[in-house]
Amino acid sequence: MSEPLTSSITVPGPATSATAIVGSRATGTEPHVAENYSPLPVTIARGEGVWVADAEGKRYLDLLAAYSAVNFGHRHPALVAAVEEQLGRITLTSRAFRSDMLEPFAAALARLCGKDLVLPMNTGAEAVETGIKVARAWGYRVKGVAPEAARIVVAAGNFHGRTTTIVGFSDDPVAREGFGPFAPGFDVVPYGDAEALVAAITDETVAVLIEPIQGEAGVIIPPEDYLRRIREVCTERNVLFIADEIQSGLGRVGETFACDREGVVPDLYLLGKALGGGILPVSAVVGDRDVLGVIRPGEHGSTFGGNPLAAAVGLRVVEMLESGEFQERAAALGEHLRSGLEAFLGHGVTEVRVAGLWAGVDIDPAIGTGREIAERLMERGVLVKDTHGQTVRIAPPIVIRTTELDWALEQLRFVLDA
Ligand SMILES: *Cc1c(COP(=O)(O)O)cnc(C)c1O
Repeated sequence: MSEPLTSSITVPGPATSATAIVGSRATGTEPHVAENYSPLPVTIARGEGVWVADAEGKRYLDLLAAYSAVNFGHRHPALVAAVEEQLGRITLTSRAFRSDMLEPFAAALARLCGKDLVLPMNTGAEAVETGIKVARAWGYRVKGVAPEAARIVVAAGNFHGRTTTIVGFSDDPVAREGFGPFAPGFDVVPYGDAEALVAAITDETVAVLIEPIQGEAGVIIPPEDYLRRIREVCTERNVLFIADEIQSGLGRVGETFACDREGVVPDLYLLGKALGGGILPVSAVVGDRDVLGVIRPGEHGSTFGGNPLAAAVGLRVVEMLESGEFQERAAALGEHLRSGLEAFLGHGVTEVRVAGLWAGVDIDPAIGTGREIAERLMERGVLVKDTHGQTVRIAPPIVIRTTELDWALEQLRFVLDA
């Protein structure tokens, strides 16, 4: 394995005397924070590369990487430098004026995607909402679907964000119950079943919106040829293929996009998370002019979308991906991760699914729940996130070293054996 991409991954040291540990910072509780999450009982104060530390200086290896938003590690020097330089110039102009950073960012991102145009937003959910608006507008103005009749095919088990439209087509009761009424126009089909998807397409269908790998569902990898079949039917039936690559894209799976695994190019890429380098929320919809060009001035926007600071970090992220070294590294380390995890099959682990440096590990209920495993790993200095009860998700920053990955696997072995 080659040397890590960051020249030196230093480990956060103990808290200095300047770090006052008072009140809730010492106890780690958050009495004033709304309880829309149930975080592990660790309070992170610092981070560098793959490591984070609490205020007392206890170190943890971060194998979640903020759901792949921190693909390049915490505070990657090249990304911090891009942000610091931009902070000294201009941070926000609004789109009422041009900024000198947006076109270079858009040009670089469009080139990375092999597309014409970029529509910048901030969060992933906004990129998904934008994709839905673009698809409907394209359906009415280009495809000729009757007004208000457009339909979008989505997959069961999907996760596309938390807005009311998006949770309306989720099948996760926790995400949707109590938040209706929801927007109509979505048809849900089983994930990974190409023929069910084909059967759901009608003349009113304007788009298929799919995660090429379902992250939140537990790193669910569809059967081979699934994406190719979607591409094929979308072309045949004049339907847009929208790939939500917000979590799967930008190096995680050992390719730039998860769609690359099947050599497939969607009509629209939805990007977010790692696009902001773990520093800022930066998202985008990327597509060709004949699709994304349907949006006219004034029809869509965002006060912060495409702001100069976001564009500066997004541009640097794209530049880092252009060489392919992160993608190669994720692929190589991913094979290492796969063999390490497969050794646990039958020893507390019932199934593993691995794509690049991204894994879903199903824990044998006899050993404990995913959450319990995450808590025991935390005590041993490894941070992971459980999902859907029995699954533990592993997605380290791509800058992780083989020795660090091995150390994390050792901790998992200990926890599974205990
Ligand atoms: C995280 C995620 C989103 C939503 O992104 P936010 O920035 O949290 O709004 C959408 N789609 C996928 C696949 C994601 O993983």
